[in-house]
Amino acid sequence: MRAPVHGVSMDLDLTGKHALVCGASQGIGRAAAHELALLGADVTLLARRAGVLAQVRDALPVVHDAQRHALIAVDAGDTATLRAKAEALVAGHPVHVLVNNGGGPPPGLLQDAGEEALLLAYRQHVLAAQTLVGAVVPGMRRAGYGRIVNIVSTTVREPIANLGVSNVTRGAMASWAKTLANELAPLGITVNNVLPGSTDTPRIAQIAATRAEARGVPVEAMRTEMEAEIPMGRFGLPGEIAAAVAFLASPAAAYITGTSLPVDGGRIRAI
Ligand code: NAD
Repeated sequence: MRAPVHGVSMDLDLTGKHALVCGASQGIGRAAAHELALLGADVTLLARRAGVLAQVRDALPVVHDAQRHALIAVDAGDTATLRAKAEALVAGHPVHVLVNNGGGPPPGLLQDAGEEALLLAYRQHVLAAQTLVGAVVPGMRRAGYGRIVNIVSTTVREPIANLGVSNVTRGAMASWAKTLANELAPLGITVNNVLPGSTDTPRIAQIAATRAEARGVPVEAMRTEMEAEIPMGRFGLPGEIAAAVAFLASPAAAYITGTSLPVDGGRIRAI
């Protein structure tokens, strides 16, 4: 095939690449694992429950003969075990694509949040990502290919009421990612954030239920009200967030780093 005159091609092929996807047992993480597998990557799923992960792994697409999927069962808040398992993984199969993702902190006002809630969220998100980066970057460097994609939230740009600990943690995560992007750019390793808006997963069901209870309205009415705040008038699908993750993980996105991409149906009001 002739090389395009502008020097790049729309190359989405991840055949021969290995992706480690966190928070992959459901929701956005599971959808991201699916999209990466469709592009040809070997996918290792990470979350806490081995049984659920095994079912998800067995349902992942296999698009070529050499493709293998695996799992790691670990609590991302258990930093020492996470490090040990990630190092064991990369020793056998270096990781080229890391998707940092995990459960959102429980809703609540920041002024009511205890020290432990803030520390736990920091451990599960920022420290977990830092730990995994420590394990995967040497292999990315040797392979000459590295993509780090963090699932964060539109709250990086606009904090949302009653998501106090989450808002604080997302801000820390965004700053962590931008700093790392600058440090790793000379190696050709990219670091980007995907910022989901309201997306139809168990997480949004939890948020809708909490708001409905606080307001004393039915959950369905609360969902309708939340959807009406979105210019597209609906929640996103996990696969719509995952498509952005897969693109950022692909060869085609080689020159995109340090960005935060909202995938939110237009919900962020700022330009
Ligand atoms: P989800 O709750 O449906 O899934 C979270 C995943 O993380 C699950 O696989 C869960 O098992 C795993 N997980 C949770 N705690 C873990 C831990 N301690 N160790 C290892 N794995 C753990 O969430 P989602 O809706 O798919 O969202 C993914 C991320 O995006 C979350 O951080 C969420 O807060 C954020 N987000 C979601 C929305 C939304 O509307 N769904 C909007 C903005 C941001």
